[in-house]
Amino acid sequence: MKANEVLDMLKRRFPNEPEYHQAVSEVLGTIEDVYNEHPEFEKANLIERLCIPDRIFSFRVTWVDDKGQVQTNMGYRVQHNNAIGPYKGGVRFHASVNLSILKFLAFEQTFKNSLTTLPMGGAKGGSDFSPRGKSNAEIMRFCQAFITELWRHIGPDTDVPAGDIGVGGREVGYMYGMYKKLARENTGTFTGKGIEFGGSLIRPEATGYGNVYFLLQMLKTKGIDIKDKVVTVSGSGNVAQYTVEKLISLGAKVVTMSDSDGYIYDPEGIDREKLDYIMELKNLYRGRIREYAEKYGVKYVAGARPWNEKCDIAMPSATQNEINGDDARALLANGCFAVSEGANMPSTPEAIEEFLKAKILYAPGKAANAGGVSVSGLEMTQNAQKLSWSAEEVDQKLKDIMANIHAQCLKYGTQEDGYVNYVKGANVAGFMKVAKAMMAQGIL
Ligand code: NDP
Repeated sequence: MKANEVLDMLKRRFPNEPEYHQAVSEVLGTIEDVYNEHPEFEKANLIERLCIPDRIFSFRVTWVDDKGQVQTNMGYRVQHNNAIGPYKGGVRFHASVNLSILKFLAFEQTFKNSLTTLPMGGAKGGSDFSPRGKSNAEIMRFCQAFITELWRHIGPDTDVPAGDIGVGGREVGYMYGMYKKLARENTGTFTGKGIEFGGSLIRPEATGYGNVYFLLQMLKTKGIDIKDKVVTVSGSGNVAQYTVEKLISLGAKVVTMSDSDGYIYDPEGIDREKLDYIMELKNLYRGRIREYAEKYGVKYVAGARPWNEKCDIAMPSATQNEINGDDARALLANGCFAVSEGANMPSTPEAIEEFLKAKILYAPGKAANAGGVSVSGLEMTQNAQKLSWSAEEVDQKLKDIMANIHAQCLKYGTQEDGYVNYVKGANVAGFMKVAKAMMAQGIL
Protein backbone atom coordinates (compact mmCIF):
# COMPACT_ATOMS: atom_id res chain seq x y z
CA MET A 1 0.00 0.00 0.00
CA LYS A 2 1.27 3.49 -0.90
CA ALA A 3 1.76 6.02 1.88
CA ASN A 4 -1.00 8.28 0.56
CA GLU A 5 -3.55 5.41 0.49
CA VAL A 6 -2.99 4.49 4.11
CA LEU A 7 -4.95 7.33 5.64
CA ASP A 8 -8.07 6.50 3.63
CA MET A 9 -7.73 2.88 4.68
CA LEU A 10 -7.42 3.85 8.36
CA LYS A 11 -10.44 6.14 8.16
CA ARG A 12 -12.45 3.34 6.61
CA ARG A 13 -11.40 0.66 9.08
CA PHE A 14 -11.25 2.83 12.19
CA PRO A 15 -13.90 5.53 11.78
CA ASN A 16 -14.62 7.99 14.61
CA GLU A 17 -10.97 8.17 15.66
CA PRO A 18 -10.10 11.73 14.56
CA GLU A 19 -7.04 12.25 16.79
CA TYR A 20 -5.51 8.99 15.53
CA HIS A 21 -6.14 10.02 11.90
CA GLN A 22 -4.67 13.47 12.63
CA ALA A 23 -1.43 12.08 14.08
CA VAL A 24 -0.98 9.59 11.22
CA SER A 25 -1.77 12.21 8.61
CA GLU A 26 0.86 14.60 10.01
CA VAL A 27 3.56 11.94 9.83
CA LEU A 28 2.58 10.54 6.42
CA GLY A 29 2.57 14.04 4.92
CA THR A 30 6.27 14.41 5.73
CA ILE A 31 7.73 10.95 5.17
CA GLU A 32 6.17 10.22 1.78
CA ASP A 33 9.26 11.21 -0.23
CA VAL A 34 11.70 9.13 1.78
CA TYR A 35 9.22 6.23 1.87
CA ASN A 36 8.92 6.24 -1.89
CA GLU A 37 12.72 6.14 -2.22
CA HIS A 38 12.59 2.66 -0.67
CA PRO A 39 10.47 0.29 -2.82
CA GLU A 40 11.31 -2.54 -0.41
CA PHE A 41 9.21 -0.76 2.24
CA GLU A 42 6.13 -0.90 0.05
CA LYS A 43 6.74 -4.53 -0.84
CA ALA A 44 6.75 -5.37 2.87
CA ASN A 45 3.60 -3.23 3.40
CA LEU A 46 5.63 -1.47 6.04
CA ILE A 47 3.54 1.66 6.34
CA GLU A 48 0.31 -0.18 7.12
CA ARG A 49 2.08 -2.30 9.72
CA LEU A 50 3.65 0.79 11.24
CA CYS A 51 0.37 2.72 11.50
CA ILE A 52 -1.78 -0.02 13.05
CA PRO A 53 -0.90 -0.90 16.68
CA ASP A 54 0.54 -4.35 17.36
CA ARG A 55 -2.23 -4.98 19.89
CA ILE A 56 -4.70 -3.23 22.17
CA PHE A 57 -5.96 -4.40 25.56
CA SER A 58 -9.24 -2.95 26.81
CA PHE A 59 -10.87 -3.83 30.09
CA ARG A 60 -13.42 -2.76 32.69
CA VAL A 61 -12.03 -1.25 35.88
CA THR A 62 -14.32 -1.62 38.88
CA TRP A 63 -13.67 0.20 42.15
CA VAL A 64 -15.55 1.40 45.21
CA ASP A 65 -15.82 5.14 45.99
CA ASP A 66 -15.76 6.74 49.45
CA LYS A 67 -19.54 6.55 49.70
CA GLY A 68 -19.39 2.80 49.22
CA GLN A 69 -20.78 2.99 45.69
CA VAL A 70 -19.40 0.72 42.98
CA GLN A 71 -17.97 2.62 40.02
CA THR A 72 -16.82 1.38 36.63
CA ASN A 73 -14.40 2.90 34.13
CA MET A 74 -12.74 1.67 30.96
CA GLY A 75 -9.02 0.90 30.93
CA TYR A 76 -6.76 0.49 27.89
CA ARG A 77 -3.19 -0.27 26.86
CA VAL A 78 -2.16 0.29 23.25
CA GLN A 79 1.07 -1.57 22.44
CA HIS A 80 1.95 0.13 19.21
CA ASN A 81 5.37 -1.04 18.08
CA ASN A 82 8.33 -2.81 19.71
CA ALA A 83 10.75 -2.98 16.79
CA ILE A 84 13.51 -1.10 18.62
CA GLY A 85 12.82 -2.04 22.23
CA PRO A 86 10.17 -2.91 24.84
CA TYR A 87 6.86 -1.05 24.56
CA LYS A 88 7.18 2.21 26.47
CA GLY A 89 4.76 5.07 27.08
CA GLY A 90 2.69 6.80 29.71
CA VAL A 91 -0.71 6.20 31.25
CA ARG A 92 -3.34 8.96 31.11
CA PHE A 93 -6.29 9.32 33.51
CA HIS A 94 -8.76 11.88 32.19
CA ALA A 95 -12.50 11.89 31.48
CA SER A 96 -11.78 12.48 27.78
CA VAL A 97 -9.66 9.32 27.31
CA ASN A 98 -10.80 7.04 24.49
CA LEU A 99 -9.12 4.75 21.97
CA SER A 100 -8.65 7.47 19.38
CA ILE A 101 -6.62 9.58 21.82
CA LEU A 102 -4.56 6.63 23.07
CA LYS A 103 -3.88 5.39 19.54
CA PHE A 104 -2.63 8.84 18.50
CA LEU A 105 -0.44 9.03 21.60
CA ALA A 106 1.00 5.51 21.10
CA PHE A 107 1.70 6.23 17.43
CA GLU A 108 3.49 9.49 18.28
CA GLN A 109 5.37 7.77 21.09
CA THR A 110 6.86 5.25 18.68
CA PHE A 111 8.58 7.98 16.65
CA LYS A 112 9.50 10.01 19.72
CA ASN A 113 11.15 7.04 21.40
CA SER A 114 13.02 6.29 18.22
CA LEU A 115 14.40 9.85 18.26
CA THR A 116 15.72 9.56 21.81
CA THR A 117 18.50 7.19 20.64
CA LEU A 118 17.49 4.77 23.42
CA PRO A 119 16.08 1.27 22.75
CA MET A 120 12.37 1.81 23.43
CA GLY A 121 9.26 0.91 21.44
CA GLY A 122 6.00 2.87 21.60
CA ALA A 123 2.87 2.39 23.72
CA LYS A 124 0.27 4.36 25.65
CA GLY A 125 -2.48 3.50 28.10
CA GLY A 126 -5.07 5.04 30.31
CA SER A 127 -8.60 5.30 31.52
CA ASP A 128 -11.61 7.61 31.31
CA PHE A 129 -11.36 7.87 35.11
CA SER A 130 -11.19 11.52 36.19
CA PRO A 131 -8.94 12.12 39.22
CA ARG A 132 -10.50 15.56 39.68
CA GLY A 133 -12.22 15.85 43.07
CA LYS A 134 -11.30 12.27 44.09
CA SER A 135 -9.88 11.54 47.53
CA ASN A 136 -6.46 10.00 47.99
CA ALA A 137 -8.09 6.71 49.02
CA GLU A 138 -10.25 6.68 45.87
CA ILE A 139 -7.21 7.32 43.68
CA MET A 140 -5.41 4.42 45.36
CA ARG A 141 -8.31 2.00 44.96
CA PHE A 142 -8.72 2.99 41.32
CA CYS A 143 -4.99 2.54 40.57
CA GLN A 144 -5.03 -0.89 42.23
CA ALA A 145 -8.10 -1.98 40.25
CA PHE A 146 -6.54 -0.72 37.01
CA ILE A 147 -3.35 -2.72 37.59
CA THR A 148 -5.26 -5.84 38.64
CA GLU A 149 -6.30 -6.01 34.97
CA LEU A 150 -3.18 -4.69 33.30
CA TRP A 151 -0.33 -6.35 35.20
CA ARG A 152 -0.14 -9.50 33.08
CA HIS A 153 0.61 -7.49 29.96
CA ILE A 154 3.48 -5.37 31.30
CA GLY A 155 7.00 -6.10 32.56
CA PRO A 156 10.54 -4.69 32.51
CA ASP A 157 11.37 -6.26 29.13
CA THR A 158 7.90 -6.22 27.57
CA ASP A 159 6.08 -3.00 28.35
CA VAL A 160 7.06 -0.24 30.78
CA PRO A 161 4.35 2.34 31.60
CA ALA A 162 4.89 5.81 33.12
CA GLY A 163 2.87 8.96 33.89
CA ASP A 164 0.95 11.40 31.69
CA ILE A 165 -2.06 13.67 32.25
CA GLY A 166 -3.65 12.80 35.61
CA VAL A 167 -0.87 10.32 36.44
CA GLY A 168 2.04 11.66 38.50
CA GLY A 169 4.31 10.29 41.21
CA ARG A 170 1.40 9.44 43.52
CA GLU A 171 -0.45 7.36 40.92
CA VAL A 172 2.72 5.64 39.65
CA GLY A 173 3.51 4.70 43.26
CA TYR A 174 0.10 3.10 43.78
CA MET A 175 0.21 1.27 40.43
CA TYR A 176 3.76 0.02 40.90
CA GLY A 177 2.95 -1.15 44.45
CA MET A 178 0.02 -3.23 43.17
CA TYR A 179 2.06 -4.51 40.23
CA LYS A 180 4.78 -5.78 42.56
CA LYS A 181 2.25 -7.49 44.79
CA LEU A 182 0.78 -9.40 41.84
CA ALA A 183 3.93 -10.05 39.80
CA ARG A 184 6.15 -10.81 42.80
CA GLU A 185 9.16 -9.14 41.30
CA ASN A 186 11.02 -5.91 41.82
CA THR A 187 12.54 -5.00 38.50
CA GLY A 188 11.19 -1.49 38.03
CA THR A 189 8.40 -2.12 35.52
CA PHE A 190 7.18 1.51 35.82
CA THR A 191 9.19 4.69 35.33
CA GLY A 192 8.50 7.93 37.20
CA LYS A 193 8.75 5.98 40.46
CA GLY A 194 9.58 7.64 43.79
CA ILE A 195 13.28 8.15 44.38
CA GLU A 196 13.18 5.79 47.38
CA PHE A 197 12.08 2.79 45.30
CA GLY A 198 13.98 2.93 42.04
CA GLY A 199 13.02 6.29 40.57
CA SER A 200 15.54 8.49 38.79
CA LEU A 201 16.62 11.96 39.85
CA ILE A 202 15.48 14.57 37.30
CA ARG A 203 12.61 12.37 35.99
CA PRO A 204 9.90 14.74 37.33
CA GLU A 205 11.74 17.69 35.76
CA ALA A 206 12.73 15.94 32.54
CA THR A 207 9.92 16.81 30.12
CA GLY A 208 9.83 20.51 31.04
CA TYR A 209 13.62 20.91 31.29
CA GLY A 210 14.09 18.93 28.08
CA ASN A 211 11.67 21.19 26.23
CA VAL A 212 13.62 24.27 27.34
CA TYR A 213 16.92 22.59 26.32
CA PHE A 214 15.43 21.94 22.89
CA LEU A 215 14.24 25.55 22.69
CA LEU A 216 17.76 26.75 23.54
CA GLN A 217 19.14 24.68 20.67
CA MET A 218 16.64 26.25 18.29
CA LEU A 219 17.39 29.78 19.53
CA LYS A 220 21.10 29.13 19.13
CA THR A 221 20.63 28.58 15.39
CA LYS A 222 19.42 32.20 15.20
CA GLY A 223 21.83 33.64 17.78
CA ILE A 224 18.94 34.58 20.11
CA ASP A 225 19.41 34.77 23.90
CA ILE A 226 16.56 33.45 26.08
CA LYS A 227 17.16 36.10 28.76
CA ASP A 228 14.28 38.58 29.20
CA LYS A 229 12.19 36.87 26.52
CA VAL A 230 8.46 36.85 27.30
CA VAL A 231 7.02 33.33 27.33
CA THR A 232 3.42 32.12 27.47
CA VAL A 233 3.02 28.64 28.97
CA SER A 234 -0.24 26.68 29.12
CA GLY A 235 -1.05 24.03 31.71
CA SER A 236 0.05 23.97 35.34
CA GLY A 237 0.80 20.28 35.75
CA ASN A 238 4.08 18.38 35.67
CA VAL A 239 5.34 19.55 32.28
CA ALA A 240 4.28 23.19 32.69
CA GLN A 241 5.75 23.52 36.20
CA TYR A 242 9.24 22.37 35.27
CA THR A 243 9.21 24.29 32.00
CA VAL A 244 8.55 27.43 34.01
CA GLU A 245 11.17 26.49 36.62
CA LYS A 246 13.90 26.18 33.98
CA LEU A 247 12.77 29.33 32.14
CA ILE A 248 12.91 31.36 35.37
CA SER A 249 16.40 30.09 36.12
CA LEU A 250 17.54 31.26 32.67
CA GLY A 251 16.12 34.77 33.13
CA ALA A 252 13.08 34.46 30.84
CA LYS A 253 9.78 36.08 31.86
CA VAL A 254 6.82 33.67 32.02
CA VAL A 255 3.52 35.56 31.98
CA THR A 256 0.85 32.85 31.77
CA MET A 257 -0.12 29.43 33.10
CA SER A 258 -3.48 27.68 32.86
CA ASP A 259 -5.65 24.72 33.74
CA SER A 260 -8.75 23.27 32.15
CA ASP A 261 -10.88 26.09 33.62
CA GLY A 262 -8.90 29.13 32.39
CA TYR A 263 -5.58 30.99 32.49
CA ILE A 264 -3.78 33.61 34.58
CA TYR A 265 -1.82 36.52 33.12
CA ASP A 266 0.89 37.99 35.34
CA PRO A 267 2.57 40.95 33.57
CA GLU A 268 5.37 41.06 36.16
CA GLY A 269 6.27 37.44 35.40
CA ILE A 270 5.95 34.32 37.54
CA ASP A 271 8.99 34.27 39.85
CA ARG A 272 10.42 31.45 41.97
CA GLU A 273 8.24 32.25 44.96
CA LYS A 274 5.06 32.38 42.88
CA LEU A 275 5.99 29.11 41.16
CA ASP A 276 6.45 27.48 44.57
CA TYR A 277 2.91 28.61 45.37
CA ILE A 278 1.61 27.03 42.13
CA MET A 279 3.44 23.77 42.84
CA GLU A 280 1.94 23.60 46.31
CA LEU A 281 -1.50 24.58 45.01
CA LYS A 282 -1.48 21.97 42.25
CA ASN A 283 0.54 19.10 43.72
CA LEU A 284 -0.58 19.24 47.36
CA TYR A 285 -3.98 20.94 47.56
CA ARG A 286 -5.09 20.02 44.02
CA GLY A 287 -6.51 23.55 43.66
CA ARG A 288 -7.38 25.69 40.62
CA ILE A 289 -5.11 28.19 38.83
CA ARG A 290 -7.77 30.88 39.46
CA GLU A 291 -6.55 30.96 43.07
CA TYR A 292 -3.20 32.37 41.86
CA ALA A 293 -5.01 35.37 40.37
CA GLU A 294 -6.88 35.91 43.64
CA LYS A 295 -3.66 35.68 45.71
CA TYR A 296 -1.49 37.94 43.53
CA GLY A 297 -4.21 40.28 42.19
CA VAL A 298 -3.61 39.53 38.49
CA LYS A 299 -5.91 38.87 35.55
CA TYR A 300 -7.75 35.53 35.30
CA VAL A 301 -9.59 34.60 32.12
CA ALA A 302 -12.12 31.81 32.58
CA GLY A 303 -12.77 29.29 29.80
CA ALA A 304 -9.93 30.56 27.59
CA ARG A 305 -6.38 29.70 26.52
CA PRO A 306 -3.46 32.13 26.77
CA TRP A 307 -2.54 32.48 23.09
CA ASN A 308 -3.95 35.98 22.65
CA GLU A 309 -1.43 37.39 25.13
CA LYS A 310 1.66 39.03 23.62
CA CYS A 311 4.78 36.89 23.82
CA ASP A 312 8.08 36.10 22.11
CA ILE A 313 7.85 32.37 22.72
CA ALA A 314 4.91 29.99 23.34
CA MET A 315 5.27 26.66 25.13
CA PRO A 316 1.96 24.75 25.09
CA SER A 317 2.13 22.21 27.93
CA ALA A 318 -1.46 21.14 28.65
CA THR A 319 -3.14 18.91 26.06
CA GLN A 320 -3.78 18.05 22.39
CA ASN A 321 -5.29 20.56 19.94
CA GLU A 322 -5.01 23.49 22.34
CA ILE A 323 -3.67 25.86 19.63
CA ASN A 324 -6.00 26.19 16.65
CA GLY A 325 -5.57 28.22 13.46
CA ASP A 326 -6.93 31.43 15.03
CA ASP A 327 -4.68 31.02 18.08
CA ALA A 328 -1.66 30.53 15.79
CA ARG A 329 -2.51 33.65 13.80
CA ALA A 330 -2.94 35.63 17.04
CA LEU A 331 0.47 34.44 18.28
CA LEU A 332 2.15 35.41 15.00
CA ALA A 333 0.40 38.80 14.85
CA ASN A 334 1.75 39.53 18.34
CA GLY A 335 5.32 38.80 17.26
CA CYS A 336 5.79 35.25 18.60
CA PHE A 337 8.87 33.80 16.88
CA ALA A 338 9.20 30.38 18.54
CA VAL A 339 6.78 27.63 19.59
CA SER A 340 8.15 24.60 21.43
CA GLU A 341 5.62 21.93 22.36
CA GLY A 342 5.65 20.35 25.82
CA ALA A 343 2.27 18.71 25.26
CA ASN A 344 1.61 16.01 22.68
CA MET A 345 0.07 17.35 19.43
CA PRO A 346 -1.07 20.65 21.00
CA SER A 347 -1.24 22.40 17.61
CA THR A 348 -3.96 21.58 15.09
CA PRO A 349 -2.91 20.93 11.46
CA GLU A 350 -4.09 24.45 10.56
CA ALA A 351 -1.95 25.97 13.32
CA ILE A 352 1.11 24.00 12.19
CA GLU A 353 0.56 25.22 8.65
CA GLU A 354 0.54 28.84 9.91
CA PHE A 355 3.80 28.36 11.85
CA LEU A 356 5.56 26.72 8.91
CA LYS A 357 4.27 29.33 6.48
CA ALA A 358 5.56 32.11 8.74
CA LYS A 359 8.87 30.19 9.01
CA ILE A 360 9.15 30.65 12.76
CA LEU A 361 11.05 28.24 15.00
CA TYR A 362 8.47 25.51 15.53
CA ALA A 363 9.28 22.30 17.44
CA PRO A 364 6.69 19.51 17.44
CA GLY A 365 6.08 17.66 20.70
CA LYS A 366 7.60 14.40 19.52
CA ALA A 367 10.99 16.15 19.41
CA ALA A 368 10.66 18.88 22.04
CA ASN A 369 9.00 16.85 24.80
CA ALA A 370 11.08 13.68 24.32
CA GLY A 371 13.11 14.52 27.44
CA GLY A 372 10.53 12.84 29.66
CA VAL A 373 10.69 9.45 28.03
CA SER A 374 14.46 9.82 27.63
CA VAL A 375 14.98 10.06 31.37
CA SER A 376 12.47 7.22 31.75
CA GLY A 377 14.85 5.23 29.55
CA LEU A 378 17.70 6.26 31.84
CA GLU A 379 15.60 5.14 34.82
CA MET A 380 15.23 1.71 33.18
CA THR A 381 19.00 1.52 32.72
CA GLN A 382 19.65 2.47 36.35
CA ASN A 383 17.12 -0.15 37.53
CA ALA A 384 18.72 -2.83 35.37
CA GLN A 385 22.15 -1.93 36.75
CA LYS A 386 20.76 -1.57 40.28
CA LEU A 387 22.46 1.80 40.54
CA SER A 388 21.34 5.40 40.80
CA TRP A 389 23.05 8.28 39.09
CA SER A 390 23.48 11.81 40.45
CA ALA A 391 21.16 14.63 39.36
CA GLU A 392 24.05 16.29 37.51
CA GLU A 393 24.81 13.11 35.60
CA VAL A 394 21.18 12.59 34.52
CA ASP A 395 20.73 16.28 33.65
CA GLN A 396 23.85 16.20 31.47
CA LYS A 397 22.63 13.08 29.67
CA LEU A 398 19.25 14.79 29.14
CA LYS A 399 20.99 17.85 27.63
CA ASP A 400 23.04 15.58 25.34
CA ILE A 401 19.95 13.67 24.20
CA MET A 402 18.00 16.87 23.44
CA ALA A 403 21.00 18.21 21.48
CA ASN A 404 21.15 14.94 19.57
CA ILE A 405 17.43 15.07 18.73
CA HIS A 406 17.90 18.65 17.56
CA ALA A 407 20.81 17.59 15.35
CA GLN A 408 18.67 14.82 13.80
CA CYS A 409 15.95 17.40 13.05
CA LEU A 410 18.52 19.65 11.35
CA LYS A 411 19.86 16.72 9.32
CA TYR A 412 16.49 15.62 7.96
CA GLY A 413 14.52 18.88 8.13
CA THR A 414 16.75 21.61 6.67
CA GLN A 415 15.23 22.96 3.46
CA GLU A 416 17.06 24.38 0.46
CA ASP A 417 16.40 27.94 1.64
CA GLY A 418 17.95 27.09 5.02
CA TYR A 419 14.66 27.02 6.98
CA VAL A 420 14.49 24.08 9.37
CA ASN A 421 11.20 22.19 9.18
CA TYR A 422 11.41 20.45 12.54
CA VAL A 423 8.18 18.53 11.85
CA LYS A 424 9.68 16.88 8.81
CA GLY A 425 13.06 16.43 10.48
CA ALA A 426 11.61 14.68 13.53
CA ASN A 427 9.24 12.50 11.53
CA VAL A 428 11.79 11.33 8.97
CA ALA A 429 14.50 10.65 11.57
CA GLY A 430 12.08 8.79 13.85
CA PHE A 431 10.55 6.86 10.97
CA MET A 432 13.77 5.69 9.32
CA LYS A 433 15.09 4.01 12.44
CA VAL A 434 11.86 2.12 13.15
CA ALA A 435 11.46 1.22 9.48
CA LYS A 436 14.98 -0.24 9.24
CA ALA A 437 14.47 -2.20 12.46
CA MET A 438 11.17 -3.62 11.18
CA MET A 439 12.67 -4.58 7.82
CA ALA A 440 15.56 -6.38 9.51
CA GLN A 441 13.22 -8.44 11.67
CA GLY A 442 11.04 -9.84 8.91
CA ILE A 443 7.29 -9.83 8.33
CA LEU A 444 5.62 -9.87 11.75
P1 NDP B 1 -0.68 16.91 34.25
O1 NDP B 1 -1.90 16.12 34.51
O2 NDP B 1 0.37 17.01 35.28
O3 NDP B 1 -1.10 18.41 33.84
C1 NDP B 1 -1.95 18.65 32.78
C2 NDP B 1 -2.28 20.13 32.73
O4 NDP B 1 -3.02 20.42 31.56
C3 NDP B 1 -3.16 20.57 33.90
O5 NDP B 1 -2.91 21.92 34.19
C4 NDP B 1 -4.55 20.36 33.32
O6 NDP B 1 -5.56 21.15 33.94
C5 NDP B 1 -4.36 20.81 31.88
N1 NDP B 1 -5.29 20.11 31.01
C6 NDP B 1 -5.49 18.78 30.90
N2 NDP B 1 -6.46 18.51 30.01
C7 NDP B 1 -6.87 19.71 29.56
C8 NDP B 1 -7.84 20.11 28.61
N3 NDP B 1 -8.59 19.20 27.96
N4 NDP B 1 -7.98 21.44 28.36
C9 NDP B 1 -7.23 22.36 29.02
N5 NDP B 1 -6.30 22.04 29.94
C10 NDP B 1 -6.12 20.74 30.18
O7 NDP B 1 -0.09 16.33 32.87
P2 NDP B 1 1.38 16.51 32.26
O8 NDP B 1 1.92 17.85 32.63
O9 NDP B 1 2.15 15.31 32.58
O10 NDP B 1 1.06 16.47 30.70
C11 NDP B 1 0.80 17.64 29.91
C12 NDP B 1 1.02 17.34 28.45
O11 NDP B 1 2.39 16.93 28.25
C13 NDP B 1 0.18 16.19 27.86
O12 NDP B 1 -0.11 16.49 26.51
C14 NDP B 1 1.11 15.00 27.94
O13 NDP B 1 0.77 13.99 27.01
C15 NDP B 1 2.43 15.67 27.59
N6 NDP B 1 3.63 14.95 27.99
C16 NDP B 1 3.85 14.61 29.29
C17 NDP B 1 5.00 13.97 29.66
C18 NDP B 1 5.34 13.68 31.07
O14 NDP B 1 6.49 13.28 31.33
N7 NDP B 1 4.46 13.87 32.03
C19 NDP B 1 6.00 13.55 28.65
C20 NDP B 1 5.71 14.03 27.31
C21 NDP B 1 4.55 14.68 27.02
P3 NDP B 1 -6.50 20.51 35.09
O15 NDP B 1 -5.67 20.50 36.33
O16 NDP B 1 -7.67 21.46 35.16
O17 NDP B 1 -6.88 19.15 34.63
